[in-house]
Amino acid sequence: MDILKIREEFPVLRREIAGKPMIYLDNGATSQTPLRVIDEIDRIYTHTKANVHRGVHTLSQEMTDLQERSREKIRKYINAASIEEVIFTRGTTEGINLVASSFGRRFREGDEVILTVMEHHANIVPWQLLRERTGIVLRVVDINEKGELDLEQYRSLFNDRTVMASFCHVSNVLGTVNPVKEMTAYAHSRGVPVLIDGAQASPHLPIDVEDIDCDFYVFSSHKMYGPTGIGVLYGKKKWLLEMPPYQGGGEMIAKVTFAHTTFAELPFKFEAGTPDFVGIAAFSKALEFIEEVGISEIEKHERELLEYTQEKMIHIPGLKIYGAAPGKSAVISFLVGKSHPYDVGLLLDKQGVEVRTGHHCAMPLMDRLDIPGTVRATFAVYNTFDEADGFIKALERAAMILE
Ligand code: PLP
Repeated sequence: MDILKIREEFPVLRREIAGKPMIYLDNGATSQTPLRVIDEIDRIYTHTKANVHRGVHTLSQEMTDLQERSREKIRKYINAASIEEVIFTRGTTEGINLVASSFGRRFREGDEVILTVMEHHANIVPWQLLRERTGIVLRVVDINEKGELDLEQYRSLFNDRTVMASFCHVSNVLGTVNPVKEMTAYAHSRGVPVLIDGAQASPHLPIDVEDIDCDFYVFSSHKMYGPTGIGVLYGKKKWLLEMPPYQGGGEMIAKVTFAHTTFAELPFKFEAGTPDFVGIAAFSKALEFIEEVGISEIEKHERELLEYTQEKMIHIPGLKIYGAAPGKSAVISFLVGKSHPYDVGLLLDKQGVEVRTGHHCAMPLMDRLDIPGTVRATFAVYNTFDEADGFIKALERAAMILE
């Protein structure tokens, strides 16, 4: 893999921050965008923009074609059985809200939904909103000291009232890669459907929804080198057929009268209003980029970077890394002595290193770890070993200043 060649595709990586070459390590929040995606957006706005599924005219048909080809590319990428199972959303968050609102209609007071303590707020709050409406009960799986889920407890939480299990594939704080296939198989053995939050997995690991056999899988384009504002909800057709629409409006209807409305076929039933068709079309270029490099190559490179960086970091006095699950993904959450994460983040920024600080939208996990937040460095395919060295050097300086 020629990283320098890959980096040429990302103009933003040439930036300087505070007079130093930027080292971008906030990929968990959003990854940067390769030129082919930017060019596709530019090309569509310059040549092809027209609303989809609405016109007989050439431009509209071209645009519809681009959008639907992207849907097929995504279907293939995640190995879904049919394009009817690939629904475009605004992102992971909207995908989970859609399932909680629509699938959640079948839940009754006292029904139980299993979550884990390592969830992002996006996989907590929608279920709490549902709890307010229906009186469901949320059960939460704990972690061990390495940041792995307590699978024994997970299994023990299932009972006759369990109606759903919803958990992340990869933790955005700990980097833990959960055994989602095994967890799904167990839930199914108890007759319980599963939603997987794939926001932190889809940029780093091969995703095969048929193999995992999950009922729902959600992810965001902007973390996968794609445009902002679009995401995907994969859902098994048998559920999607039964589920009521999430929102009403154009695109999602078959026939509307003031007395009654019938809904469009899948997947359009869940896509009310004009979608971000430009973003959707350009997302296929991001997938093309990932396929060209190879997701397994990406995974291997990021893992090597992770091990290299962590190995060097642990020598910094007072430094503590949160998350030590074997095979963890390219996420390093850490604290330096008693220093506040913001102070560390600011001192790193002054040296050109862009990291995330705070609770990472995982406040319950911060409570569980008994810390206010962490500093978080996350890698992408374009990060280099030189950058890892630069990050360590900057961190050593920050640690010295804050000592
Ligand atoms: N779930 C996880 C694990 C995440 O890391 C994120 C974003 O950081 C989300 C959900 C929410 O993604 P989005 O803001 O793209 O909807």
